[in-house]
Amino acid sequence: MNMNIALVPGDGIGPDIVREAVRVLDKVAEVYGHSISYKEVDAGGVSIDKYGIPLTDSALETAASSDAVLLGAVGGPKWDHVPGNLRPEKALLGLRSGLGLFCNLRPAVIYPELADASPLKPSVISEGVDLLVVRELTGGIYFGEKGRNADGSEAFDVMKYSVKEIERIAKKAFEAARLRKKHVTLVDKANVLETSRLWRETVSAVAKEYSDVDLDCMYVDNASMQLVRDPKHFDVLLTENMFGDILSDEASMITGSIGMLASASLRDDSFGMYEPIHGSAPDIAGMNIANPVATILSAAMMLRYSFSLEKEARAIENAVASALSDGVRTRDIAATGEAAIGTAECGSEILRRIR
Ligand code: NAD
Repeated sequence: MNMNIALVPGDGIGPDIVREAVRVLDKVAEVYGHSISYKEVDAGGVSIDKYGIPLTDSALETAASSDAVLLGAVGGPKWDHVPGNLRPEKALLGLRSGLGLFCNLRPAVIYPELADASPLKPSVISEGVDLLVVRELTGGIYFGEKGRNADGSEAFDVMKYSVKEIERIAKKAFEAARLRKKHVTLVDKANVLETSRLWRETVSAVAKEYSDVDLDCMYVDNASMQLVRDPKHFDVLLTENMFGDILSDEASMITGSIGMLASASLRDDSFGMYEPIHGSAPDIAGMNIANPVATILSAAMMLRYSFSLEKEARAIENAVASALSDGVRTRDIAATGEAAIGTAECGSEILRRIR
């Protein structure tokens, strides 16, 4: 297969970690007989420095004309003084909305070797945690009408969803579940919110097309408790924008390892943008100590969701798991007294385990 990938290294540790993900992708291409071409795109602080704005039209066009985008991270103290609408983070919003990405996937996995990093008791995570939050990204209360009354003493934000918006993300969740443990939990507040009742009706109707996948429904207040009480209940957690914003951060925290967590933002076709959930870590930029695993696992998600290369995606995930079980650790995940290796060395340890 030929893959055209736009690389957006961004700022801070972005270039360091994207470089390692590219080396791993190249190794996968070599082992499995694919070819990959890359185009590099400036976004974030680096684009502000060159062009005065965080995302140029031509950067967006290059990203849009690729098959998929791999992004490092943007931002840093150097650009803290720039006005709000020119901040580096605006590049992310520009890419997500400009590329029409409505579906955000955030896996949260606890590797047995890193279980100590989890703030949860060993008894709660003894059977492992491997869940995927599927969050609607372009609708709901964040995008609804908002305002104040004339004297400013009242404010409102409107939560609105259409059947079409719910259907398209529900399908993404069921399709993702088919590649996993075939269990979707819809998280909502259907006892109070009319939008949630529409989500339940619509998702239940979509579920009929996926009779091999189990569906259950949970109120968001209960889901936020169950994530820390019994996280193994969840396989795919499907939810609307605001609940997903909150629950995906909660799910990340239970793993305790920010340098390990990948994400994907998708649209209806196979196009997607893939990035680690962490930021640009300016405190460790250019020092060869950043953990590249989140970005390498984002590249695995790219192979799975944009190119349907499940075997190749698993080859990366297995290489990461095997490196961890052999004691490969960057500084952020090394226990006290445990030896740590650098970003590039970690990339090398993973790529030599690609089978
Ligand atoms: P951050 O995630 O960059 O860093 C938080 C802490 O985690 C830091 O101590 C950092 O060293 C550490 N860390 C993060 N990723 C790591 C990795 N791969 N390996 C080892 N350690 C890692 O969050 P922050 O400090 O709040 O933000 C820094 C900058 O990043 C800000 O400008 C912020 O706006 C931006 N940011 C960007 C994104 C993005 O591009 N998606 C997301 C969040 C924050």
